Amino acid sequence: MTRTPVGEIRPSQLLWTYGPEALIDLPNLSVVTMGIDRWERDRCQPIQEARLLANVRSVLGPQVESLRMPPLGDRDVVDPFSAAALVGVPVKPFPRWLRCVKCGLLSPFDAGLFKLKENRYRPELTRFVHEGCRGSSNDQRPKDADAVPARFLMACRAGHLDDFPWHWFVHGGPSGCRGTLRFFESGASLQTENLWVKCDSCGAAKNMAQGFGQAGRDNLPACRGRHPHIDRFVDDCVEDPRAILLGATNGWFPVTLSVLAIPQTGSPLAQLIGDGWTFFEDVDSADEVGFVVKTLKKTAQLPGIENAARQSG
Ligand SMILES: [Zn+2]
Ligand SMILES: [Zn+2]
Ligand SMILES: [Zn+2]
Repeated sequence: MTRTPVGEIRPSQLLWTYGPEALIDLPNLSVVTMGIDRWERDRCQPIQEARLLANVRSVLGPQVESLRMPPLGDRDVVDPFSAAALVGVPVKPFPRWLRCVKCGLLSPFDAGLFKLKENRYRPELTRFVHEGCRGSSNDQRPKDADAVPARFLMACRAGHLDDFPWHWFVHGGPSGCRGTLRFFESGASLQTENLWVKCDSCGAAKNMAQGFGQAGRDNLPACRGRHPHIDRFVDDCVEDPRAILLGATNGWFPVTLSVLAIPQTGSPLAQLIGDGWTFFEDVDSADEVGFVVKTLKKTAQLPGIENAARQSG
């Protein structure tokens, strides 16, 4: 997969607003933050905080190896085409469906109808275009027109996030029709009631209001259990999916765990004992200390003990 910088966000935004599977509504693109298995591990500094790690493991499980910082890019990279300019948190376009602002063409970004226009000097200007667009009546001089995210998505209460099922929705269910779809407005305001999608080939059309509320329950397929940030589908979701709008503030919430970190006072050993105090508090002889240390080394329950406690082991 090729990599293109698409913009910048602050590290704190990664924690509170744009963590894995959150949508980032950039000026010209909408992207989803990929799961941490796609992040460049070597660019992510480890955080030595044994108590926090223990807390996280108690919630997520023992598979959590370490805590790490987000990858930090160098803001002063001179060459925008260098490898250093590509350091960052991986994202991919989501929703995959885009709409041409001129002719209303509605299609996935990777179906060959839209093209990515990179801007390495100003990544935030990177966008998709409908190449050689001839307007909604197909009678204008060919000219590239901007393509923007189709602002409808589907989500369920189990936390799945999917593209809006445009083909299914327009055709009233599964259909063999392979026509291109078009998005258009009727009426003066951009209320959902005035937004329509239509199939170029068979003429089927549907009003977007039909995707919401009770009508939505009748017009949308079952949840596919999609997690776009890890490219995975689970097939046993029983929740009803609902249409949601891109940019809705109730789309993603962080789960946070915190500890009060007391800065090291120069003695790594004292720090280690402090971090692992629950293991040491009932010890009442030197022999017992040796035993606890041995056990901790074997079970790797206190990161750092393997280096710090040679003399007692
Ligand atoms: Zn167009
Ligand atoms: Zn059709
Ligand atoms: Zn679901």
